[in-house]
Amino acid sequence: IESTLVLLKPDAVQRKLCGEIIHRFERRGLLISALKLLQLTPDMAANHYAEHRGKPFYPSLVKFITSGPLVAMVLSGPNAVKVVRTMMGSTNPVEALPGTIRGDYATIMSYNIVHGSDSAANATREIAIYFTKQEII
Ligand code: ATP
Ligand code: MG
Repeated sequence: IESTLVLLKPDAVQRKLCGEIIHRFERRGLLISALKLLQLTPDMAANHYAEHRGKPFYPSLVKFITSGPLVAMVLSGPNAVKVVRTMMGSTNPVEALPGTIRGDYATIMSYNIVHGSDSAANATREIAIYFTKQEII
């Protein structure tokens, strides 16, 4: 069993898509191990997206991800990292296939609805940004 960090980004919350997207993950068979609504501080955003610091899109990425409340979840199941990434679709929604979350709900790179950890090591690192041990069931 593997765990991964999933964010329903501020655009998903604002567009009232959280229920639908959580439903997809549940139907797939992933288990919700932790879940909360929160608004990121600039420090949390910088920690989450540390790998992108210095890139041209970094300032707008941090501005967007801190712009309103988001839903953070730990999802667990066999190969959860890969399963979630496949369900999300390509980073650029223009390339994302229909049937994927981004392919069904997004058209703009900067507003791509969902985040999922890209490796088990990053999942462990990212989960610790959002949740204490006690909050993960
Ligand atoms: P995320 O980390 O948000 O789940 P990802 O792993 O698919 O997405 P990353 O390469 O980690 O993609 O990029 C993080 C986020 O930064 C993307 O979700 C996207 O919104 C934004 N981003 C990435 N590359 C670009 C780019 N070239 N131009 C604009 N925004 C970008
Ligand atoms: Mg990423």
